[in-house]
Amino acid sequence: MGMNSRVDMDIGVDVQTLFLTNAMILIVMGLAFYAAWRKQPDETYWPAWIGANFVIAASLFSYMAFPGEEPSFGLALPNSLLVIGFGLRWTAARLFARRRVYWSLLVLPPLVVAVLFGLPGWIDYRVAYYTVNTVLMLLAAATAWEFFSDRETGLPSRYGLLIAYGVMALSFAGRIAQGINAHTAETAHLVFDSVLQIHLLIAVIHTTASGAFVLSIAYERMARDLRHAAMHDALTGLPNRRAFEQRLEKALRDRSHFALVVFDLDHFKSINDRYGHAAGDAGLKRCAHICPSVLRQQDFVARIGGEEFAAILPGVTPTEAFMLTDRVRATVAAARIAADDGSFGLTLSAGIAHSAEGEASFDRLMRAADANLYRAKNGGRNRIAETAAA
Ligand code: GH3
Ligand code: MG
Ligand code: MG
Repeated sequence: MGMNSRVDMDIGVDVQTLFLTNAMILIVMGLAFYAAWRKQPDETYWPAWIGANFVIAASLFSYMAFPGEEPSFGLALPNSLLVIGFGLRWTAARLFARRRVYWSLLVLPPLVVAVLFGLPGWIDYRVAYYTVNTVLMLLAAATAWEFFSDRETGLPSRYGLLIAYGVMALSFAGRIAQGINAHTAETAHLVFDSVLQIHLLIAVIHTTASGAFVLSIAYERMARDLRHAAMHDALTGLPNRRAFEQRLEKALRDRSHFALVVFDLDHFKSINDRYGHAAGDAGLKRCAHICPSVLRQQDFVARIGGEEFAAILPGVTPTEAFMLTDRVRATVAAARIAADDGSFGLTLSAGIAHSAEGEASFDRLMRAADANLYRAKNGGRNRIAETAAA
C-alpha cells in the first residue's frame, strides 16, 4: 500500500498483508497455548495468554475492517482491543511469575483509549495517538520487566521473552518518536508509511518469538518442577532415596573421602500409636529440619525411608563424623513436638560408616552403616555406633 509515505522508502510488504499475517500467527499461537492449557488446566496464565492472542487478533481484524483516519468507533475499537490484549499479556506474565495482578489496569487504559478515539472532535487526534502508543509501550515494557525480574533459575527462555517484549516496547516508542518528528500524528490512525511497515514487521517477529518462548518457558518450568518432585520427599521437602542413591554413587565414583550416616527414629511406631499419625508426621518434619541445620553447608541429608534419614559428610575424620552425628542426636533429643494432647519428645539412633574403610562400594557402605545402626538400637537407642576406624 505504501500510500501517504512520509519516509521515502517502501520495504515491499503491504500493511494489510502484515496485519493479516500477524493475526494468523496470533491465532495459531493461541491454539498452541490452548493445547498446553489442556495439559496444565490449573495454570491460570494460560487463559490470559490465550485471551491476549485472540483479543489482539480481533484488534488487527478490526483495523483491517475500519481503515479510518478520523476518531470514530472504527478507531476506538481496534485501539482499545489492542490495549486490552497487551494488558492481558502483562497480566499473564505476572500470573506466570506468581505475582499479584492488577485487574483495574486491564480495564482503565482501554476505556481511556476508547473515549479518546471514540469522541470525534472532542480531543486532538494527536492526544489519542500518543496515548495509545504510550500505553502500549508501557505495557510491553512492563511485560519485559516481569521476565527480567523473575530470577527463577534454570528457565533460559525468559531471556527470549525479555528481548521479544523489550523490542516491541522500543517499536512503540519508535511510533511515538515518529509522531513527534514527522508530524504525522495529525492523522491519528496508524500512519501508512514504511515506519508502520517496519513496526508491523517487528510485530510479526515479536508475535512468533514471544509465542514460542511462552510455550518453552512453561515447559521448562514444568520439567524443572517434575524433576524436583522426582528427587524430593513431599512431606519433609528433603531429597528422597533416589536422590540419596545418586549422590552416594557420585561420591563413590569420585573416590572422595566421606562418612555415611544412617539415622532411624526410636520407637516411632509407638509415637504414632500414642499421639496419632499427624503428630508423627510433625515429628518427622522437625527431624528433617534439624538434620541439615545442625550439619555443615557441604553435608547432604535425605529422607531414605519412612522414619529413616541418611547423611553424607564429605571430608570428615571419624572424630568429626561422630561429633556432627552426635549434634543431630542431641538436638533431636532436646526438641519437643506439639500434639493434640500435650507434647512429646523423640530420639534417634545412628550408624556411621566411612568411605575410607577398605574397598568402599555402595552395598558394603550401606551394610556397614546399617549394621552399626542395629548395634546402636541394641545398645539401648538414642545413641550412635561406628565401625572402629581402620
Ligand atoms: P525402632 O526404635 O526399633 O526403630 O522402633 P520403630 O517403632 O521406629 O520401628 P520401625 O523403624 O520398624 O518402625 C517404623 C515406623 O515408622 C512404622 C510406621 O508406623 C512409622 N512411619 C513410617 N513412615 C511414616 C510416616 O511417613 N509418617 C508417620 N507418622 N509414621 C511413619
Ligand atoms: Mg525404621
Ligand atoms: Mg525406627
